[in-house]
Amino acid sequence: MGAIQAIRGTRDILPNEVSYWQHAEATARTIFQRAQYQEIRTPIFEATELFARGIGEATDVVGKEMYSFTDRGDRALTLRPELTAGVARACIQNGLLKPGSLQRLWYTGPTFRYERPQAGRQRQFHQVGIECLGSDSPLADVEVIALATDLLQALGLRSLQLDINSVGRGEDRQRHRQALVDYLTPHKADLDADSQDRLTRNPLRILDSKNERTQTIVQDAPQLLDYLSPESRRHFEQVQASLNDLGIAYQINPRLVRGLDYYTHTAFEIQSADLGAQATVCGGGRYDGLVATLGGADTPAVGWALGMERLILLLQELQASPTTAPDFYVVSRGAIAQARALVLTQKLRQQGFGLEFDLSGSGFGNQFKRADRSGAIACLILGDEEAAQGKISIKWLPTQTQDTWTQDRLLTSPDSLRQTLAQLRETLAASQT
Ligand code: ATP
Ligand code: MG
Repeated sequence: MGAIQAIRGTRDILPNEVSYWQHAEATARTIFQRAQYQEIRTPIFEATELFARGIGEATDVVGKEMYSFTDRGDRALTLRPELTAGVARACIQNGLLKPGSLQRLWYTGPTFRYERPQAGRQRQFHQVGIECLGSDSPLADVEVIALATDLLQALGLRSLQLDINSVGRGEDRQRHRQALVDYLTPHKADLDADSQDRLTRNPLRILDSKNERTQTIVQDAPQLLDYLSPESRRHFEQVQASLNDLGIAYQINPRLVRGLDYYTHTAFEIQSADLGAQATVCGGGRYDGLVATLGGADTPAVGWALGMERLILLLQELQASPTTAPDFYVVSRGAIAQARALVLTQKLRQQGFGLEFDLSGSGFGNQFKRADRSGAIACLILGDEEAAQGKISIKWLPTQTQDTWTQDRLLTSPDSLRQTLAQLRETLAASQT
């Protein structure tokens, strides 16, 4: 019998990759906490109707990409294709949206879309995102955009491009829609099949078609920006002015329209030139219509979602795996010594030190080689003789010097031990640059 494989479009995140994920997640958490965003965790599956209503039937996500199924109780359920609809549902259901108050939330977790798997595109992928609910101020749009650029900058990413656009409000889009359909209809035969279909269902989406011939046709199409009401135009201008104040570089892309129906005003995307075809790392915008669509009180909101897999691809190009080396590597030989060494190891771990305990039972020589490879700062060495005398040898690996201490000393001065390790770590870093 053959071994069972992971499902197409899913993948294992193995320990050598996980350190990138942890680094990215920890950085995100710090940046969100600084701005008073709180974490929310919602279920991985929801009623299919939530996404049909909240995202819209005419979108690719709902129309073609959902993992939907009926459970044993005949309920129509879907693995979440994004988290915003679930977060909005949770806010409504749990009464988190008090009139006049603000909810600043962040989330991370697995997301599911039935798409053709390729680099940077999977069927189970992960998003991290934020939502700011309750403010219609353009400054809220800019706060969330700034947190995205802060995060990417803190992770050391460069050659990123921020595109912004305004999709206005429903009335603006209605007026533009007619002009767009009037322009596109004579070209209908030359559009790709998807776009022909969208001409009646969701013509705005034709603007971000990836098809080359469609793109040339769309180049001269009427722009939504020219159909904005004075109020919508003012919102967009304020967003730009505030981005300028923060020194955040952007470019206006009139063809940037998010695929989801509930977006209003600001739409934005952050792309990386280093990602090939799947270039968009982060996408978001304002979605003033969503909460009301889902049965809650009218609540303006703005947010974004970032694809973790694409972010990790960029981090891997940038830097070697973030280190997870222990402080000490513990080498011991002989039954009494090994048993005692494990006791010392546990006591030091309880004091907050990182230790890797050699379980191989092999000769000292082999254990020392593994100690060198571990990246530890020091090697703790215990033979039966030292164990009997209550002593322990410490080899400081960066300087290749050795001391013999009493075990008591090792356990009773954690602060000075921590200091010694920090100094040696600096020595080591200096010698490596
Ligand atoms: P794309 O144009 O790449 O299909 P999208 O507009 O469908 O993206 P969003 O719904 O805005 O994407 O999701 C936010 C982010 O989630 C994207 O910018 C991307 O980084 C990531 N993402 C979306 N779909 C996938 C996928 N199938 N696999 C991996 N990451 C994805
Ligand atoms: Mg997509």
